[in-house]
Amino acid sequence: MSAERNFLLKDLNDAQKEAVSAPRENMLIIAGAGTGKTRVLVSRIAWLIGVEQVQPRRILAVTFTNKAAAEMRQRIGAISGEEVQRALWTSTFHSLCLRLLRAYANQAGLTPDFTVMDSDGQKLLVKRIEKDLGIDIGDYRPAMVAASISRFKERGLRFKNIEHAQMGDYGATVRRVYKIYEKSCIRENIVDFSELILRTVELLEGNERVRELQHRRFEEILVDEFQDTSSLQYKLLGLLKGPQSHVLAVGDDDQSIYGWRGADFTNMQNFLKDFKPVHQVALLENYRSGQNILDMANTLISGNNDRLIEKKLKNANGGSGPQVTVMRCRNEELEAQAVLSEVRALKRQGMRLCDMAVLYRNNSLSGVMEKTLSTHGVDYVIYGGLKFFERAEILDAVAYMRLLLNENDDTALYRIINVPSRKIGPSVVSKLQEVASERGCSLLQAIKLVREYGKMPEAAKALVTIARRIEGFASLMEELQQGLEHMSSLSSFAGEVVQKSGLYIMYKEKDEKEKRGEYDNLRHKNLEELVNNAAAFEREHQGEDASDDEALASLSPQKRLLLEYLSSVSLAAGTELNAQGQAGASVPGDRLNLMTIHSSKGLEFRAVFLIGFDNKILPSQLSLESREDGTEEERRLAYVAMTRARERLYLSYADYRRIFGRLESSGPSIFLRQMLLSYSGKRPQPFVTERI
Ligand code: ATP
Ligand code: MG
Repeated sequence: MSAERNFLLKDLNDAQKEAVSAPRENMLIIAGAGTGKTRVLVSRIAWLIGVEQVQPRRILAVTFTNKAAAEMRQRIGAISGEEVQRALWTSTFHSLCLRLLRAYANQAGLTPDFTVMDSDGQKLLVKRIEKDLGIDIGDYRPAMVAASISRFKERGLRFKNIEHAQMGDYGATVRRVYKIYEKSCIRENIVDFSELILRTVELLEGNERVRELQHRRFEEILVDEFQDTSSLQYKLLGLLKGPQSHVLAVGDDDQSIYGWRGADFTNMQNFLKDFKPVHQVALLENYRSGQNILDMANTLISGNNDRLIEKKLKNANGGSGPQVTVMRCRNEELEAQAVLSEVRALKRQGMRLCDMAVLYRNNSLSGVMEKTLSTHGVDYVIYGGLKFFERAEILDAVAYMRLLLNENDDTALYRIINVPSRKIGPSVVSKLQEVASERGCSLLQAIKLVREYGKMPEAAKALVTIARRIEGFASLMEELQQGLEHMSSLSSFAGEVVQKSGLYIMYKEKDEKEKRGEYDNLRHKNLEELVNNAAAFEREHQGEDASDDEALASLSPQKRLLLEYLSSVSLAAGTELNAQGQAGASVPGDRLNLMTIHSSKGLEFRAVFLIGFDNKILPSQLSLESREDGTEEERRLAYVAMTRARERLYLSYADYRRIFGRLESSGPSIFLRQMLLSYSGKRPQPFVTERI
């Protein structure tokens, strides 16, 4: 045993050791960037299993992104073996809730084959509702209204909880849409992302048996990036924790960057009150970055008033490392060129491309950078652009599968009834809508009825015409449904859907017609990739134990597999695939990383380029205008970006930059100016400046 203890505690400093080996109680770790919080959390899990003899399936580890969850699984696998890795619950809040809702679908007011709607589906549904209600989609953009509905849900508010009285025009319209939206989701048996959390909270609040089952199931709950939990997620945590279980929360208030989406870092203070943690551990030493980088980051964040604890990051090894490079560029093209030449110089010194990252405030800033890299043949991968599972062709294929699983999913049907074109126009669709509302059934069921009645000798002529129009689609769905029942593997079924639906041919022809080359985004190749992804999913989930998911037992194994696959797909939106078709893992090959600051949270790179450090971009104008505490959150965002760097940090801004076609000149970020000013006249300076 003591050998095991030593093994688990080696390579940790004293404060980290204390946290990893603490007795089983609630614990809170608030510590700065790069101080080993995630490392402690992972080692703590290994400790609980190896020393405290907690069964792996009694441990729940929650992190913020799929990528982080995948990484955590991998790190635990490396310490504790593959079997442990499989048994643990490592997930995001969303995937955890999905799993619980699936298992207790009936108690949660759903049927077990419900499907998860992605944000694109959400927009389409809102658009449909707005059209029905005669609301102008130009004035009330569906994406915005959909987002507002999500905000309500994230605050725990159902339609009926929203006070009509205090709303302006916009709010009143959202409320009208929300009402129908809720109804449609229930009728279609679909849930959106924020619904996953809200419904799980309601389930646990309202059902004592289910709640107690979870209390017994999870003996230890560990949450990384705790500063970005929303108040609803915080509530969920309280419901999941039983009298005998313990929570370890790990976070950094200075890195809270999701306030705009409902995150509330004062949860850390609430945690002290509500969970009465016996242990509070502070980690003071940073193992990631050279002191020059940390000095700059410390100076930056000291400008915030709203901090829980003042932390000055200090490098554990005392190394100051290279100075930070501040690049003033004449325009964004020269900025991209400067980054390119630095990247090449670092590469010559032996640094790999995958050890470097270019970070930016908004996706729109990556365009010029991408163009420059492609022109000069530098491989790169973008996290946070249009991601694999958000591409139109993938959403089409997935919509077919969703409809096959869930006949009520009208949203999926609307998407693909005429894709590829089957000459099913609006008049046919509105006839089908009529039938559906008369019968109180879904559109797919209406299609089946029309098909049946259309064949009868006494059928009215209009009905016969419509029945002919939909015949092709109806028989396709029938064929695919049979394919699902008899499928030999998930990937062969996915292949069947992609081929028989006509999507593959359609996109292949489009790609050819548009003369898309190998380096463009070939849509028919993406469909092939989807089939590979299904194969990878099947391999990974072979022999998985679903015995504790009572509700799922009522579904055929084929349906269950497809359901689980689709769930993973909807939650994987926002990730890239690697060459083996696996989502969430890093993309192979030596490529430069490009991503928004938001997606870089928790990661680290040997070299970081923060581009677009201009005023009005970071801090973003929009965020300053729309939120009272906008500046503070923007400053934290810049802080997150800077603290990703291990050895080299470059901060760049442009004198002139084209934004949405207009030439703008906003000057360096106020944050950058504040940092530089605070060192004026002092020597040595942690930075050097360059003019480009
Ligand atoms: P963030 O706030 O960015 O999420 P974090 O606090 O979670 O950072 P980690 O990612 O766990 O920090 O650790 C940062 C880096 O320091 C990692 O490369 C980690 O392996 C390393 N590290 C942490 N603790 C030690 C230690 N005691 N000795 C050596 N390296 C360490
Ligand atoms: Mg971390």
